[in-house]
Amino acid sequence: MSDATPKTPRPLGSISLNFIPAAAGDAVAAATHAVPGGTGVPVEAPVVIVGSGPAGLTAAIYAARANLKPIVIGGVVGGGQLMITSDVENYPGFPDGVQGPELMGLFRKQAERFGARIVDADVDRVDLAGRPFGLWAAGVEYRARAVIVATGADAIWLGIESETRLRGRGVSACATCDGFFFRDKEVGIVGGGDSALEEALFLTRFATKVHLIHRRDAFRGSKIMQARAAAHPKIELHLNRTIEEVLGADHVEGLRLGKADGTGEERLPVQGLFVAIGHRPNVAVFSDWIETDEKGYLKTEGATTASNIDGVFVAGDVDDHRYRQAVTAAGEGCRAAIDAERWLEAQDAHDGQAAAEVAHSGVATAP
Ligand SMILES: Cc1cc2nc3c(=O)[nH]c(=O)nc-3n(C[C@H](O)[C@H](O)[C@H](O)COP(=O)(O)OP(=O)(O)OC[C@H]3O[C@@H](n4cnc5c(N)ncnc54)[C@H](O)[C@@H]3O)c2cc1C
Repeated sequence: MSDATPKTPRPLGSISLNFIPAAAGDAVAAATHAVPGGTGVPVEAPVVIVGSGPAGLTAAIYAARANLKPIVIGGVVGGGQLMITSDVENYPGFPDGVQGPELMGLFRKQAERFGARIVDADVDRVDLAGRPFGLWAAGVEYRARAVIVATGADAIWLGIESETRLRGRGVSACATCDGFFFRDKEVGIVGGGDSALEEALFLTRFATKVHLIHRRDAFRGSKIMQARAAAHPKIELHLNRTIEEVLGADHVEGLRLGKADGTGEERLPVQGLFVAIGHRPNVAVFSDWIETDEKGYLKTEGATTASNIDGVFVAGDVDDHRYRQAVTAAGEGCRAAIDAERWLEAQDAHDGQAAAEVAHSGVATAP
């Protein structure tokens, strides 16, 4: 690109963030909201999927095509993390790239085509103690034989106005996704853990210079990663520095740094900023029920998407802090739907067998 706008041939501000309208989903929403405050008539479904990012909507496509009539409770802000990015160039099948919101609109359209019903609400309470499982969203109770949790993990941002304004216009939280856009540019990356150090090293493949900024006097990351970063000729360390402002009107033109001891400011002439200060898995309503790992992500068992609760499956970034990509999340959504389908089939076979045994013993045949 000739201008200094690394990732904004069509800036996020100019594109619609709305999903393609949810015809069937609206019908569910209308029906459920017609039950004011949930007057004791729960909405039942074989499978309820929580979350409408790549994992949740892929699970919905597979579950719907398996005739499981899934309901997706997709969040008040549906579509997931790709809704806050512009160009996605690494999702297979789009040789010219695709805008994040457009891609998620297509996911949704495909899920609805097979009958998935999507409700734009947050699940605020669950009861996973017994089956059917209970979930509550916007005052409506849902009952599901199987549940797929695909609530993702939100990137943690610095929280300054200029960062929010320039997201998708040079500010990103994903070096794997967006590093490529910064070929032959100078970039900043902020953070002090292993992720920040790894991403700084990754960015040296593209950028002419990488400024690694950390607010403390030492990194938290492993010694070996610190040594690699410190020794890299393209990486310049800026310790005891905070980012006060991302400079630029509609794309990143620099950073204004503050010194931790308050003795003044510095400016860095970067065209991109990567924020690598962590992710927060969206587990609040589930963490009392589903086991989490040491980082707070939901745990799955073995090579499956099964959680510690029989009939509850987990997919996407909410359990994956290693890959964090749309295609891996979608892959997990597919796996979770197949796991749920097989689990339901086994349940049906088991219930059928039990009923046959009861009938055979004569207990159920009493007049
Ligand atoms: C700036 C940025 C750029 C990125 N660019 C790329 C890229 O170019 N290519 C790529 O492959 N990946 C990219 N990623 C990563 C990608 O977005 C994620 O890996 C992917 O979205 C994860 O999918 P998911 O379905 O697991 O979770 P998410 O996409 O996070 O979706 C989770 C969904 O769950 C919903 N939810 C959460 N809690 C609840 C609740 N209680 N009730 C109901 N719903 C709930 C949320 O509203 C959300 O809709 C990028 C990420 C960021 C932050």
